[in-house]
Amino acid sequence: MADTVTVEDLEFDRQHIWHPYTSITNCYEMYPVTGAEGVRLTLADGRQLIDGMASWWSAIHGYNHPELNEALQRQLGKMAHVMFGGITHPPAIRLARQLLDVTPALLQQVFFADSGSVSVEVAIKMAIQYWVATGKPAKKRLLTVKKGYHGDTFAPMSVCDPEGMHEVFSGMLLDNVFVEAPQCGFHDDWQEEHIAEFKVALDKHHQAIAAVILEPIVQNAGGMRFYSPAYLKRVRELCDDYQVLLILDEIATGFGRTGKLFACEYADISPDIMCVGKALTGGYMTLAATLCTQQVAHTISNQGVLMHGPTFMANPLACSVASASLELLQAGHWKAQVEQLSITMEACLAPCRELANVADVRVLGAIGVVELKQPVDMKTIQPLFVNEGVWVRPFGKLIYIMPPYVMEQEDCQLLCKAIYQVITKIK
Ligand code: PLP
Repeated sequence: MADTVTVEDLEFDRQHIWHPYTSITNCYEMYPVTGAEGVRLTLADGRQLIDGMASWWSAIHGYNHPELNEALQRQLGKMAHVMFGGITHPPAIRLARQLLDVTPALLQQVFFADSGSVSVEVAIKMAIQYWVATGKPAKKRLLTVKKGYHGDTFAPMSVCDPEGMHEVFSGMLLDNVFVEAPQCGFHDDWQEEHIAEFKVALDKHHQAIAAVILEPIVQNAGGMRFYSPAYLKRVRELCDDYQVLLILDEIATGFGRTGKLFACEYADISPDIMCVGKALTGGYMTLAATLCTQQVAHTISNQGVLMHGPTFMANPLACSVASASLELLQAGHWKAQVEQLSITMEACLAPCRELANVADVRVLGAIGVVELKQPVDMKTIQPLFVNEGVWVRPFGKLIYIMPPYVMEQEDCQLLCKAIYQVITKIK
């Protein structure tokens, strides 16, 4: 049967289906996508869009990838799902081995979660349970920086930017400690005063702090900000000095996006707990993981169990396609691809700097950001991008791209040119 979308379908969608962060009564236009191949999305009317978003930064190898398809089909013929309590299976074992191979060596234990937000929930629970097991149950709060984003469920929301998108829930969130977002940019010279406020907060609250949680090097949905590896390095040292765990949320940055396989490699540090998701399955299925050290895992386990166990934990289809995605990464082409994207974005986004309503242009790895002086209206700007033949989804003042790594230079150039064109058209 042809995959068509009628006007009635769209009206049904508008009236009955919640999309991310939408109002049912004040909804912007939904674009029906009926197929995706390589770096292009096909709209129901046949138009093709160059995808600058990689499905919220996850489809790193592009769409309809033969090796990922094959991995999924192979597993589908064996077992789509089985509970993970009391049962294990080859796809989970294979994937856990691969994850331990590519992540920092101190991480030795894998918990498979079903989304990025859940993996952050689990990380926070791990940190709290660790200190309970250590005989320090007062250590229950998290210390983090403003402008962060860690997911939309309650524990992650309580470590997101307190002035950000979750304000409606203020007063109901966990009582955490926030300091200003890192002020030292990725290329800036490091000065110890950049960490001063963080240090004061840790000194004051460490007896109540279970863990520090950070997105390493790039603060993503909270502002697409890049900060200095020196900041992260100092955070690691201070966590050790003050006996506080370090959770790194590599959900957006992991698997090559910043130019390193994991962003923590820029600072040459290892966290106690690390969250990965998004690109883990090459954007094919929902799967995430929380990894931790033997120290954390054994301390919790010697006292009892880790209190979490989702129904779809370690789904075999998701694990299989994640294994195939990691194999593609391990083949090693991603590094050159990300470097090329970085060079192309640097060159082709640079002209945006000259535009009156542009505040900043920055690029790191396969992340390109144009920060405007004023927030954009989604209803106005989205059709402009579609008319330019690209899929870009800005938020607030930020127009950014995180394309699939397999994007050819020419397509990346078209994407950047489209951004320039659209900015010239908005007031
Ligand atoms: N952490 C970070 C850094 C993210 O960027 C995101 C999603 O954008 C999440 C957590 C939440 O992941 P998910 O949307 O899979 O729940």
